[in-house]
Amino acid sequence: MFTPYNPNNIFAKIIRKEMPANIVFENDFVIAFKDINPKAKTHILVIPKGNFIDFSHFIKNTSTEMVSIFFQTINHIATDILKLSHFRLQTNNGKDSGQEVFHFHVHILSTEITS
Ligand code: AMP
Repeated sequence: MFTPYNPNNIFAKIIRKEMPANIVFENDFVIAFKDINPKAKTHILVIPKGNFIDFSHFIKNTSTEMVSIFFQTINHIATDILKLSHFRLQTNNGKDSGQEVFHFHVHILSTEITS
């Protein structure tokens, strides 16, 4: 059964600045911040500001232009902002995949340390 987007999820509160986060990048469409419980030396979460539950919901409900902007921005954050030479991207899609926060996000994970 489809569960609608919950505007009171943690990441929505971070977007609205109702909760603190260690923000590494932000523009009109995207915000990126350090994971509170890092699983790698560098662990950043990148989220679109729109109300998307998970990857599938994002792909089905946004424009191809916005998909392109989002993934271009992830690359910009990883290579230009964080200056990573190697990294892994991960997104969990649905509760049984391990998704805990139901606002679409992509993890950037790297063994490299960034400031
Ligand atoms: P997922 O399991 O893919 O939904 O990932 C959710 C991630 O959000 C986990 O890695 C958590 O450590 C992280 N997380 C939860 N709350 C916060 C928060 N307030 N600030 C930063 N990261 C968080």
